[in-house]
Amino acid sequence: MLNLYDYRRDQLVELLAGWGFSAYYAGILWDALYRQQVESLDGIAGLRPDLAARLAATSTLRQPQTALSLDSRDGHTRKFLLRLADGQTIETVRMRYRDRYTACISTQAGCAMGCVFCATGQMGFQRHLTPGEIVGQVLFVNRALAGSGRTESAVRNVVLMGMGEPLHNYEATLSAINILTDDKGLAMAPRHITLSTVGLPAAIRRLADEDCRVQLAVSLHAASDAERAALIPPARRWPLAELLDACRYYIARRGRRIFFEWTLIAGKNDTPAQAHAVGSLLQGLNAHLNVIPLNPTPGYGGAPSQMPAVRQFQQIVAEYGIPSTVRQRRGIDIAAGCGQLRAQSQETGAVSETAPV
Ligand code: SAH
Ligand code: SF4
Repeated sequence: MLNLYDYRRDQLVELLAGWGFSAYYAGILWDALYRQQVESLDGIAGLRPDLAARLAATSTLRQPQTALSLDSRDGHTRKFLLRLADGQTIETVRMRYRDRYTACISTQAGCAMGCVFCATGQMGFQRHLTPGEIVGQVLFVNRALAGSGRTESAVRNVVLMGMGEPLHNYEATLSAINILTDDKGLAMAPRHITLSTVGLPAAIRRLADEDCRVQLAVSLHAASDAERAALIPPARRWPLAELLDACRYYIARRGRRIFFEWTLIAGKNDTPAQAHAVGSLLQGLNAHLNVIPLNPTPGYGGAPSQMPAVRQFQQIVAEYGIPSTVRQRRGIDIAAGCGQLRAQSQETGAVSETAPV
């Protein structure tokens, strides 16, 4: 069966044209999928009966199932472990900031990059998600909000910071962004979508050349090649000089700044020397640094930096003209660091349960 969420609007037009139906009907279907957010293909108003029959025979609206959902004690964060059609599980987090919702979504089941401190990296790569499985997480969060009777029930921001490396699953990720931002559908503002990458230089250049206006975040974590490769093993293939060149190209092409992410690990990459190193690395670049105290994971012995070290780090990078913000990973008590819930549920065998929420 075809999962219709896998199709961009132009692809849906093409699919229906192949069956002999005009773009008008593709428009009706698109509206039903993304404006009305129908849950089934039955009874979509305005479709020709022969098209409805064709859809029923060939297509589906595949939705993930909730394997587990947990509320954080902060009251603003809910984490979902979602089961896909083949049994793979992925994580989606819903965060509330005042009356706005942000969905943190996954682009792969597992991840091939193996960052040593990351729970997803520790579990290895399972598979890429399809565009529909990426978009489906946003629709899922929307439905969960609608189901809970909230009036302001739509996700406004999306961060691709769940499981997986979005630029390793380039085509599907770009299709998903295209679907999320389509002006006849969900119509999300591209600047409200943040794509976080471990920093694949060739893919960053490719992205710079696309008509894709999302906010880019690059995970840096270290300011020398050797230190970076110790945290992100494949980074030994992408020297920092090459990565920074690609970032400069992106900033020039897109005319926007890049967020750099720095997971702060006590005594490891939070020292004054490291702060000076990242300051001089990013100096002159249209950059903003997000520092994130490490969220400890079972497979890595490091500890989060303490606040005085975080503040000192920020003060030093500020001397180089680099603004920074401390980001706490929300919902640490519910394992909201990427990959941690799936890792835990595999240990405890709890994936088949839906926790009371
Ligand atoms: N693969 C992409 C996006 C997913 S990870 C990337 O690496 O950028 C999103 C962010 O969470 C990255 O900056 C990553 O380094 C960070 N992260 C992963 N595990 C973490 C942990 N245990 N503590 C703090 N930050 C973590
Ligand atoms: Fe993959 Fe990002 Fe985790 Fe690294 S931090 S293993 S790239 S998900």
